Amino acid sequence: MIKSDREHWSYSQINQFLKICPLQFAFQRLFRMQPEFVTENMPFGSAIHRTAEYFWAKRVKGQDVTSDELAALFADVWQREVADTPNLRFQRGDFDSLLSQGQQLIRVYRENIPDDLDIVGFNVPFQVPLIDRQGEVLEKPLVGEIDLLVRHGDRLCAVELKTAGQRYSESKLASDLQPTVYLYALRIMGHENSFFRWDVLVKTKTPAFEQYSVSRTEHDFHRLVELVRYAEIMINSGLFLPNDGSSFCPGCGYQTACQNWHLSDSPEPAPACQLAHA
Ligand code: SF4
Repeated sequence: MIKSDREHWSYSQINQFLKICPLQFAFQRLFRMQPEFVTENMPFGSAIHRTAEYFWAKRVKGQDVTSDELAALFADVWQREVADTPNLRFQRGDFDSLLSQGQQLIRVYRENIPDDLDIVGFNVPFQVPLIDRQGEVLEKPLVGEIDLLVRHGDRLCAVELKTAGQRYSESKLASDLQPTVYLYALRIMGHENSFFRWDVLVKTKTPAFEQYSVSRTEHDFHRLVELVRYAEIMINSGLFLPNDGSSFCPGCGYQTACQNWHLSDSPEPAPACQLAHA
């Protein structure tokens, strides 16, 4: 990730505020509250990602890694990630079942990645201005990091490696903001005909590997900038409503604070600059 001294927007900020829960966004990023717990999703996803990074790094050097080696590496990384995650609360499975699942998933990943994958880079950072359809530049830039950048003929493809409990829906493919953010950034960097792909390790009984390629249009990019503009207005106004009953609530570490939210005086919004390193 680019270390930015400036305030900025990232995909995770935008997604959390607009799609997950404005109140969770405020608890975490503005009021800097520690969550009561963290679910296994964070260390598990991180362990898969760290293991895949090792594979990508080897490939960039023209070397290879076997499925067995990756499975052994996952075991080490998973143990470290769990040890380094305070207040971890397992909600689905336990250490051993997730170790087994992670090893199966990383094997499936290795077996599905072609030998001629043309890697341009991994963990590729970007920082670009947010420009609206009239050419006005928003105050904060857009910052992020692309998991994996690969070449397909004369096109670049931004690849995001994910684990998921189920296959992706058509509506997610059409409206998720992650492809929009990454393709917007690549377009600003001069790669206009790029596309985005999710490589998804699906945690079904028999682990599966799914790839979903999507593209976005100028219309989507203009809409993204307007969404960010309005998100900023809402944040500066200090209005953070809970997204009660959403699918994100069971894994949210702010449940107690959320339950009591309507009983307390409305907290003042933190200065916007505190978002800089959030
Ligand atoms: S429990 Fe649900 S509504 Fe409350 S802050 Fe968390 S995600 Fe938002």
